[in-house]
Amino acid sequence: MGDVRVVSLPGDGIGPEVVAEARRLVDAVAPLDGVTVSWEEHLVGGCAIDATGGPLPDGVMEACAGADAVLLGAVGGPRWDTTDPDAPRPEQALLALRAGLGLFANLRPVRPFPALYDASPLRRERIEGTDLLVVRELTGGIYFGARGRREPEAFDTCVYSREEIRRVAERAFAAAAGRRAKVTSVDKANVLESSRLWREVVVEVAAGHPGIALDHMLVDNAAMQLVSRPADFDVIVTENMFGDILSDEAAMISGSIGLLPSASLGDAGPGLYEPVHGSAPDIAGRGVANPIATCLSAAMMLRHSLGAPAAAGRIESAVAQVLEAGHRTRDLGGALGTREVGDLLLAAATA
Ligand code: NAD
Repeated sequence: MGDVRVVSLPGDGIGPEVVAEARRLVDAVAPLDGVTVSWEEHLVGGCAIDATGGPLPDGVMEACAGADAVLLGAVGGPRWDTTDPDAPRPEQALLALRAGLGLFANLRPVRPFPALYDASPLRRERIEGTDLLVVRELTGGIYFGARGRREPEAFDTCVYSREEIRRVAERAFAAAAGRRAKVTSVDKANVLESSRLWREVVVEVAAGHPGIALDHMLVDNAAMQLVSRPADFDVIVTENMFGDILSDEAAMISGSIGLLPSASLGDAGPGLYEPVHGSAPDIAGRGVANPIATCLSAAMMLRHSLGAPAAAGRIESAVAQVLEAGHRTRDLGGALGTREVGDLLLAAATA
């Protein structure tokens, strides 16, 4: 892709510490794949509230919209926790970015590293070979439908349009084409009308992808199957709330939250890449955070938005090698710091 522009939004807490390592890695491996990255850094979240009074300062949305990709650390922390409904909150920046950039598909790969099989709460023989991708619809469903109170009742409404379902299903089938060619669509079609429409539209989308196998699973069964036979899944596509719950359940298969990357993608425009974890205020500023989730998010960015799949592969293999060699941050029971792991990844990725 040649020259690309990436907006970096380190945010709060451990965000700046882990984003710094991911940037060093990208700067080292992207040129080996013919890509030169120029970075533009902005404040978002709590640090932006302190500096400007709001979580998403003027010009940041425009900078992101005009970039090839956005790499985010994390936002939030006790310093900005408030019960005042009128006070600005760090996470408003994230919601505004998702809406403003039209990011409707959240991709969370779950592929436990063999070196860490024993760090999972599940037995090794259950998780061996697990390599799945949860594609969660991000901008529709019950989180965005009409809600309110009719004392003594309250209600939330789950609404999906055909177009909202179609576009996220297309994303899932496109992802499956580059993987093991299998999509499991998760719904609650035995009860919910929105799920019956979901199933209908997913079947229509599947007709355009004859090489990809599709099966349907009810969400309660999917929750069970994810922990009993996770290795059987390839791509799971589901609506917003089911995806919120199932992706956290799937995340635990890997062992530490410090390992999990994510991507949020729209139809056109930049994708947003970020670790699944938050700003970890309990360990912030001490140089002990695990940078791997952010480095793997940067690898997803190189693959999906920057046209540098070989560079992405270098980062992913470097992570596997470093873990295989027994190097661990504290969340994995080791004693290495953020920068030390960053140095090891850099050496392995450029070897
Ligand atoms: P968290 O993910 O920040 O931390 C949970 C636990 O995991 C903590 O013990 C933390 O030390 C540990 N942890 C997280 N990431 C780690 C890493 N890379 N290396 C080692 N250990 C790690 O979740 P939380 O404590 O519930 O939330 C803290 C703040 O982060 C809150 O303000 C929350 O709103 C915010 N948050 C932001 C995002 C985001 O920006 N996308 C996501 C989740 C939470």
